[in-house]
Amino acid sequence: MTLLDPTTAALPPRERKPVLEIRDLSVDYGYDQNAVHALQGVDLTLHAGEVLGLAGESGCGKSTLAYAATRLLPPPGVITGGSVTFTSARDGHGGDLLRMGEAELRAQRWRDTAIVFQGAMNSLNPVYTVGRQLVDGILAHKPRSRDARAEARARALELLDMVGIPKDRLGSYPHQLSGGMRQRVMIAMALALEPEIVIMDEPTTALDVVMQRQIVEQIMQLKDELGFSVIFITHDVSLLLELADRIAIMYAGRIVEDASSEEVYKMPRHPYTAGLLHSFPPLRGPKRDLAGIPGSPPDLVNLPTGCKFHPRCPYAFDECKLTDPVLGPTRFGAAEPERQVACLLNDERVAPGPIPLELGVRPEGDRIV
Ligand code: SF4
Repeated sequence: MTLLDPTTAALPPRERKPVLEIRDLSVDYGYDQNAVHALQGVDLTLHAGEVLGLAGESGCGKSTLAYAATRLLPPPGVITGGSVTFTSARDGHGGDLLRMGEAELRAQRWRDTAIVFQGAMNSLNPVYTVGRQLVDGILAHKPRSRDARAEARARALELLDMVGIPKDRLGSYPHQLSGGMRQRVMIAMALALEPEIVIMDEPTTALDVVMQRQIVEQIMQLKDELGFSVIFITHDVSLLLELADRIAIMYAGRIVEDASSEEVYKMPRHPYTAGLLHSFPPLRGPKRDLAGIPGSPPDLVNLPTGCKFHPRCPYAFDECKLTDPVLGPTRFGAAEPERQVACLLNDERVAPGPIPLELGVRPEGDRIV
C-alpha cells in the first residue's frame, strides 16, 4: 500500500510536506588543526515521495552526508553541528535524529529510514543465507510472538518476490547469487518495514550498465507503488537526470547547487555543475567535445580561500579568492524559485558581468538516455 494519499500524490514533489530536513550539518574526520572538514553547513530538504539526487566527485562528502544523517558515521567521523529532522508523512511522528536516544534511534532505523549501501557483498553476512538475514532483520523490529518467525519468513518471501528474485533463493548464501541479485536483496531488506525514506548510496556502482538500468527501473517502480522518498547518491549525474526530481550537487563538503533535474540539465548555474554535465557524452543529438573539469578536488585539510572551486573554475574572478559564496537564490529570483546556487556570479554587486552564456545553454533535444 502506498504511503501517499491521492491528494498528496497529485502534488508536485516540491509542494509536498518535508519528511527529512537537514540543517547546517557539519562533519569532521579527526580533531584540531588536522581535522578534515568533510561536511560544512549542509542544508537539504527531502519531500514526501520525492527522489533527491546527490552528485559530485569522489570524496566530496556524499556518503559522509548519508552516514551522518542516519547516525551511522564510523569513527573518526564526528558530527560537529546541525540537525536532521524526520517528520513522518504517515502520522507526523519524528524528531531530530542527531538528538535521539539509542532506543529511539534503533526503532527509527528501518521503520522510518533505511539505507542501501554500495557493494552488497560487503553488507551481507557471507555465512548466513539471505533468508536468515532477512528474517533476523524483520524479527529485530517486531514484538516477540509465537507466530513471529513464520510471519517474518512469509514477509521475506514476499520481499524477494517484490524485487524479482525467485522465492527458492531464500536459502541461498550471498556468494551463490549474482551481483545484481545481491543488490536486489539489499533493496528488499531496506524495504522490509516499509520505510518512508530510503537512502541509496551508489547502489549500482559495482554493476554493469544493463543490470544498473534494471535495478534503477525496479527502484523507481517500487517507489511509485509504495510512495517512499529516495535520496540517491551517485557520482553519475547523467543517471540522476533520468530518475531524480531534484538534484543537489556537492563540492568539497558543501552543496553548491540545488535545483530541479530539468533546471540542472537545461541551465546549470554553477560552473562545477556545468563541468560535470560536460564530462559525459550525449547519446542523442549532435556530438560535442567532452570538456571535463581541470585539476583535482581540493585537500579538505587545507581548503582554498574564498570559493573552494576557484582554482578549477574557468569563470573565477578576483573576488572568488576572497569571498566564500553562500548557497542562496539565483539572480534570476522569481523565475527560478526552486533553485539555489553558491557562486559569486549570482551576486550582481561583485560579478564582473552577466552570467556567462555557456553556463546556461545546452542544445534542445540533447537528452542523455
Ligand atoms: Fe567560479 Fe567564482 Fe563562482 Fe566559485 S564563485 S564557482 S570561482 S565564478
